Amino acid sequence: MNNLDYIINHLGEERSNYFGAVSPPVIQTSNFCFETLEEMREALKREMDDPFYTRGVNPTVAILRKKLAALEGSEECMVFGSGSAAIAAAVMSSVNAGDHVVCVQKPYSWTNTLLNKLLSRFGVECTMVDGRDPANYQNAIKPNTRLFMLESPNSGTFELQDLPAIAAIAKAHNITTIVDNSYATPLNQQPIKMGIDMTVHSGTKYLNGHSDLVAGVLCCSRKKYQEIFESEFMTFGGIISPHDAWLMIRGLRTLPIRMQRVADSTPKVVSFLENHPKVSQVIYPYSPSFPQYNLAKQQMKAPAGQFSILLKVDHLEELDAFCNKLKYFLMACSWGGYESLIFPTGALVDSQNYSESDLPWNLVRFYVGLEDPEVLIADLAQALG
Ligand SMILES: *Cc1c(COP(=O)(O)O)cnc(C)c1O
Repeated sequence: MNNLDYIINHLGEERSNYFGAVSPPVIQTSNFCFETLEEMREALKREMDDPFYTRGVNPTVAILRKKLAALEGSEECMVFGSGSAAIAAAVMSSVNAGDHVVCVQKPYSWTNTLLNKLLSRFGVECTMVDGRDPANYQNAIKPNTRLFMLESPNSGTFELQDLPAIAAIAKAHNITTIVDNSYATPLNQQPIKMGIDMTVHSGTKYLNGHSDLVAGVLCCSRKKYQEIFESEFMTFGGIISPHDAWLMIRGLRTLPIRMQRVADSTPKVVSFLENHPKVSQVIYPYSPSFPQYNLAKQQMKAPAGQFSILLKVDHLEELDAFCNKLKYFLMACSWGGYESLIFPTGALVDSQNYSESDLPWNLVRFYVGLEDPEVLIADLAQALG
């Protein structure tokens, strides 16, 4: 049995502790009691490792944490009630008032809000850089730079960052690095092994994979875990519920075969669109036409299911018509579930934060789910007309 199968099927599951049940129990409790005061006193000393109160450690969540840390290749993992909560905890644990952050351009929208709106209220400044050239990180460093925030690839136009190169620059200046690894999953990219300090994920996406819960993941060293547990984790209290943790363990069981399916199907759908006259461009890191194709192949093990297209249209009504005709691609945010999705930039054009230069109005982000790729291609063919 290889290591991946062991992690997914067995790691963390001490079945003799719960009647030999194959599927672990949902330990649906807020608190844990003790026979003696001495036991209680001792348990409090181990609050970050053993069950005392579910805002800290819960046994069902602990099984999930062990699996995720092993997948990511990190010493520890914390699970949150959303990806945004995980990102906020990781970022806030890395900065103090007066510090400076260098963040990749066009990160996930709430990462942007955190760095440029919320933390600026507390005296943390942020510079946004084009992450495709590691020198831009180097050049943005100031005496008070404490954090490099990365997201490779990002989730609209999929620009990559050279993670080992940027990690090396950060190490030389004693700067912490965080990568949002949601796009690739730990199966396809392991930033901590490339020298990155912490990774964060939206567990809502591939890791759970069934579009039925919202969760976040933060992977880090034991030392960081201790710091964050006693500070951001316990004070913000943005935890996952035991029941959602159980669902996520169930979702993880099929992560390798879901990622395999997506890696097989997506290039077929991409290639159909690349050859269609009504599509002016397909943006997909695993397409040879992608400017950072070589870096994508070097840094990620397999293709994922997200890409974007620029539709050859002159008016918003034509974009609406295409999107409205699709039957198998549901129109929704998010990705990483079983169902194929589109997120058209056309949905954002009335929003105050919308910037045409970041995302053209005729850009449509796709996620290829687990359906037969031939069914998806036929759907696209009829919608493109
Ligand atoms: C969805 C997403 C997030 C936020 O995760 P939630 O679980 O929705 O809070 C963060 N980063 C990326 C890249 C995402 O796609």
